[in-house]
Amino acid sequence: MSESGKKSLPVLNEPPVGSLNSDGTRNFVQPADVRGRFQNVRYVVFAALLVVYLALPFIQIGGAPAVFLDIVHRRFHLFGATFNAQDFWMVFLLLFGIIFALVVVTTLWGRIWCGYACPQTVFLEGLYRKVERFLEGPRNERIRRNQAPMSFDKLWRKGLKHGIFLVLSFGIAHVFLSYFVSLPSLWTMMHGSPAAHPVAFAWSMAMTLVLYFNFAWFREQLCLIICPYGRLQSALTDEDTMVIGYDVGRGEPRGKKRKAATEEKGDCIDCGRCVAVCPTGIDIRNGLQMECIGCAACVDACDEVMRKVKRPEGLVRYDSSRQLAGGKARTMRGRLALYGAVSVVWVLGMIFAVRTHEPFEANLLRPPGGTPFVVNDGVVQNTLQVHLVNKEDHPITFRLEDVGTEPVTLVIPQPEVRLDAGENRHVPLLARVPVEQMGELQATVRVRAEGLEEEHERVLTAPLLGPRGAEGER
Ligand code: SF4
Ligand code: SF4
Repeated sequence: MSESGKKSLPVLNEPPVGSLNSDGTRNFVQPADVRGRFQNVRYVVFAALLVVYLALPFIQIGGAPAVFLDIVHRRFHLFGATFNAQDFWMVFLLLFGIIFALVVVTTLWGRIWCGYACPQTVFLEGLYRKVERFLEGPRNERIRRNQAPMSFDKLWRKGLKHGIFLVLSFGIAHVFLSYFVSLPSLWTMMHGSPAAHPVAFAWSMAMTLVLYFNFAWFREQLCLIICPYGRLQSALTDEDTMVIGYDVGRGEPRGKKRKAATEEKGDCIDCGRCVAVCPTGIDIRNGLQMECIGCAACVDACDEVMRKVKRPEGLVRYDSSRQLAGGKARTMRGRLALYGAVSVVWVLGMIFAVRTHEPFEANLLRPPGGTPFVVNDGVVQNTLQVHLVNKEDHPITFRLEDVGTEPVTLVIPQPEVRLDAGENRHVPLLARVPVEQMGELQATVRVRAEGLEEEHERVLTAPLLGPRGAEGER
């Protein structure tokens, strides 16, 4: 009972809970170590993703890095396929597919991405927090040392930790940069003067500092304040999504021990271990929260406690909200049927994109700003250009041919053109026709562009422009 005599609401947790103190200041979360089956899976996934991140710039497929986003030349290399500016719609389709897959995964399994595969989690838990725990010890020791005045022990541990954090940030930033400039170019830049490549240098330094700031201090605040994905959780999940939850029916009323043999108590012994291990500092017993990144640390922690007190595991577990509330599981849902239909459309779109992807682009254009036609000695003359784009990652020789465009005569000064990987060029040509054969703009220019190495050809057409039925000079 409160002082006023009214029955007060139960206090679920002593502050601070979460990353804010009751006075609004930051509660720097110091999660406790935890072991268990889900943490084992997470660390295997972290290790695999870190290896992939580090290895991709070294792996060459078809003469280019496996993933190389060559922004300078506006070319993207993805596992042997090359895309350029003309293929942007395919990249858009691919990005849509990735985002849509994330929506489907979230509907089925909640924030599994955040807990197992998000770069923020992988780097923080897989690298930075490991260094911190190694140098500064377990949670209580870290908290004690942080509150203690400066000492030699505190100084060298903190100094070394931040030094290693800076090196890690520098390394991650440079590997990231190699996805955009390729590893050999990065190597050359790193051995040259920063003045020779100021933009890349500025990016690498800015990224190093941002990463250091994020992983040394900002940490879970990025998930809570900046990342929009967590805020979409309530829209993407429903009662049947697999989330991490606390079994209220089994756990409550919580309490350390029964005061009398007749007193009814739930399985939760209110040890606070699930809160201590939480990297965002929340109490999962308060229900699903936006701050929960689905790391399952509280599941492993509570299972450990349950084993010790000889009660069944799973008081905190992966389950749907419906089942946690005592309801029956429901697999088929309206939104899943809709997602299935969108997936089919997307797969068909990707198949169409891959099948229609051509190794080069060729277009017949009029030079900008030029005179559309001239009439000289009774001959109408149009100046045109064939715009060729080599979309492959190897050189292609193009042959340009007149394909019988009577009465038009084509003059092609450069019938064969060799273009390097990703190069594009405008090749001029002249189309001529006697003015009396112009007709009523019926004449058409037809040119065949053929990639000699690609067994791929395209016939390009453009109307021949001239005076309508006129025969005079212009
Ligand atoms: S770890 Fe389990 S038993 Fe301990 S407080 Fe959390 S839910 Fe209760
Ligand atoms: S509540 Fe549990 S699953 Fe969610 S972030 Fe905290 S420890 Fe991880």
